[in-house]
Amino acid sequence: MRDILVLGAGVVGMATAYALLRQGFSVTVIDAAAGPAEAGASFGNGAQLSYFYTDAMASPSLVTNLPKYMLGLDPAFRIRPALSPAFIAWGLKFLLNSTQNAFERNTLDILKVALESRPAMREIAKQINFDYSKTGKITLYPDERSLNKAKALADLKNQFGAQQTILLRDHALEKEPALKEYGHDFFGAVWSPYDEAGDSRLFCIKLQELLERDHGVKFRFDSRVRRLLTRSGALVGVETDRDRIECSRAVVALGASATAIARTAGIRLPIWPVQGYSFTVPALATAPIASITDTARKTVFCRIGDRLRVAGLADIGELESGFREERFNCLLETAKGIFPRAGNYGGDVNAWTGFRPVTPDSKPIVGKTKVQGIYLNCGHGSLGWTLSMATANRLADSIQCDC
Ligand SMILES: Cc1cc2nc3c(=O)[nH]c(=O)nc-3n(C[C@H](O)[C@H](O)[C@H](O)COP(=O)(O)OP(=O)(O)OC[C@H]3O[C@@H](n4cnc5c(N)ncnc54)[C@H](O)[C@@H]3O)c2cc1C
Repeated sequence: MRDILVLGAGVVGMATAYALLRQGFSVTVIDAAAGPAEAGASFGNGAQLSYFYTDAMASPSLVTNLPKYMLGLDPAFRIRPALSPAFIAWGLKFLLNSTQNAFERNTLDILKVALESRPAMREIAKQINFDYSKTGKITLYPDERSLNKAKALADLKNQFGAQQTILLRDHALEKEPALKEYGHDFFGAVWSPYDEAGDSRLFCIKLQELLERDHGVKFRFDSRVRRLLTRSGALVGVETDRDRIECSRAVVALGASATAIARTAGIRLPIWPVQGYSFTVPALATAPIASITDTARKTVFCRIGDRLRVAGLADIGELESGFREERFNCLLETAKGIFPRAGNYGGDVNAWTGFRPVTPDSKPIVGKTKVQGIYLNCGHGSLGWTLSMATANRLADSIQCDC
């Protein structure tokens, strides 16, 4: 029998379950929460399927701005170094990935994965409804210098399959009239016509319904994985807070929690949680139709059906788990300044915080491990939903070859 456990029911775990099922595996998904995408980063992310905006997080400009980020002078990006060996090791690798060469190489590698995801996501969108839209994405730049840098990167990505074009301010206004409502000045934009959007939590909920109802995939919610059980270098089971499950194959798709669980089997993962925030309000008629990324304020706006999702902030370093009112208010006030009339900011704003599982090179970790039967699909960083279908397919193919 080709049984396999998928640990984690966020976007990555759900996509993995789908891909394994198609390879003929008998799949059981386990999650600590009461339902899919309930407790992790997949609940309230920026809602973007950002196939062309695949820029790695570690970059030369991040290094230039490091003092500002460490002194807390940029409202959107904070770095508070943690004094743990794990953070120091991760941080050093992150810095090594911040050269121009490494940044370009990583961005192109991520682009390749994203381009693989696009047709797979389109195929699944024919089967389930998750407020999926194909409205493209506009990334705004404040001045000529930043736009020129973005153009150079877009030119490079376009050689490898992206289709981004540069819009000067007036053209951007023609493309997206809601930019007339923009509360600041911008010089130009990058237009990514084939970037898409949707609700990643709804994606997981609908995928669960499909997998359970039509394909017999089993789901065990409210089951927190405590340990991976191994003997003689091979997986023999998984211990949860409820029971022990015997198994010889499992995929760790636990987002920011993957590191702790993989460590129970002696597997070390270079993933650090980077905290972000979002909120969701009713969209007003003057809200942009295309997704908008304001690079100067590192904030994204995205329509999901009749709602507007706003996401941003990146807090790296000391783990201050939980929601911090002061950081959330920073996002809310920034959003009101950017698009004062895009959403109904006065009512319930559905505030949320989550952790991006970030690797030093921003690339997901996909494949087998030194322990027979333990596979990884984690570390998807800022683009987990965008990359999920491709990494799931890649992993399922490699597990198939192993069997
Ligand atoms: C503010 C913000 C904005 C973002 N915007 C975008 C975007 O626009 N587009 C995009 O593609 N990506 C975006 N991302 C990134 C994306 O959300 C993540 O990369 C992605 O959700 C990671 O998915 P995952 O399934 O690996 O992890 P998660 O979604 O975190 O899922 C992990 C699952 O594991 C479960 N779990 C954890 N520990 C245990 C345990 N011990 N036992 C059992 N279960 C456990 C959790 O309950 C959870 O369901 C954003 C992230 C943030 C924070």
